[in-house]
Amino acid sequence: MRGEPEDVRPESQGPPGAPGSGRAGVLIVEDQPELLRALRINLRARQYDVLTARTGREALAVAASHPPDAVILDLGLPDIDGTEVIVELRRWSKAPIIVLSGRTSPGDKIGALDVGADDYVTKPFAMAELLARLRAALRRDDGAAGLSTPHQATIGRWLINLTSHQVTRTATDSAPAAGPGPSPHPGSAGGGGPDAGSSGGSSAGALGESSAGSSAGAEETLRLTPTEWRILEILLQRPGQLVGSAQLLTGVWGPGYSQRTNYLRFHMARLRRKLEDNPARPRHLLTEPGMGYRYQP
Ligand code: CA
Repeated sequence: MRGEPEDVRPESQGPPGAPGSGRAGVLIVEDQPELLRALRINLRARQYDVLTARTGREALAVAASHPPDAVILDLGLPDIDGTEVIVELRRWSKAPIIVLSGRTSPGDKIGALDVGADDYVTKPFAMAELLARLRAALRRDDGAAGLSTPHQATIGRWLINLTSHQVTRTATDSAPAAGPGPSPHPGSAGGGGPDAGSSGGSSAGALGESSAGSSAGAEETLRLTPTEWRILEILLQRPGQLVGSAQLLTGVWGPGYSQRTNYLRFHMARLRRKLEDNPARPRHLLTEPGMGYRYQP
C-alpha cells in the first residue's frame, strides 16, 4: 500500500500557531505506517491540524514549509536519527517536541532531552497519555509566547508564591470559614503556636513536619531554602512538563553540575517531605526515572 500523498498537507482552518484562534498544527514523524495512521486519526479527531512525515529528512522539509506548533517524533527513523532531527529543528523552531520511542535506556532519553526535546513518551504508550502530554506542551508554549508565567502554584495544601517566596497553607482544607485568599494577618488565630516556621530563624528543623499537629486553623507557613526555591521556580513554571535532570541541575547549580543527579534526589526528597501530603507517594513533585522531574498541578 503506497503512501497517501495528502499526508503532507495541513488541513488548515486558520493560521496554525495563532493561540486561541486557529487549530494547533502537529507534525507527526513516525516510520511505522500503522502507528502513524493511529496517531493521525486520533489527533485529527481532536481538531489538530496534522502533518506527517516518515523519515527525518521529510520531517525537516515539512516543518520548514509548514512550521508546526508541536512535533511528535519517533527516534528510530530510516534515514537520519531522530536526535539529529531535534538538533536541526532547534536551530530555528521553538515548537515543543515530544519524543516517541521504543528506546528505553536513560542515555537515549537524556540525549534527546539535552538536544532540545521537551518530553519523552516510551513505546508502547497509552494514546490518552500522549494526548495529555501534547496538551500540556502546547499550553506551556502558549504561556511562554504570550502573557504570563505563573507566579504562584499549589502543591497539595500549600500555596507557593514564587514572587514573594512565601509558602502558605491554602484555606481549602480544615479551615473553618475563611475566605479563599490566605490573609496574612495573624490576629484571628491566637490559639496555639502559629509561628511554627517563622520565629526564631535558628531552628533548622522547623520545616512543617513538626507543626502538622497544631490545627488551630491558623495560617501556617513553611520555610524553604534558597536551593529549594530555585528548584521550584524551574519546575513550577513548567506545569505538566518534564524537566530533564541536566537542565534542572544546570539551572540551579550552574554549568558543570549536570551530572550531579544525587543533588536533585536529595533536595527533591526534602521538598516532598515539606510539601507533599504523602511524601512516599508524591502526587505533584514527580520523578521520571532516568530522565528528570515533573510538576503535576
Ligand atoms: Ca521507528
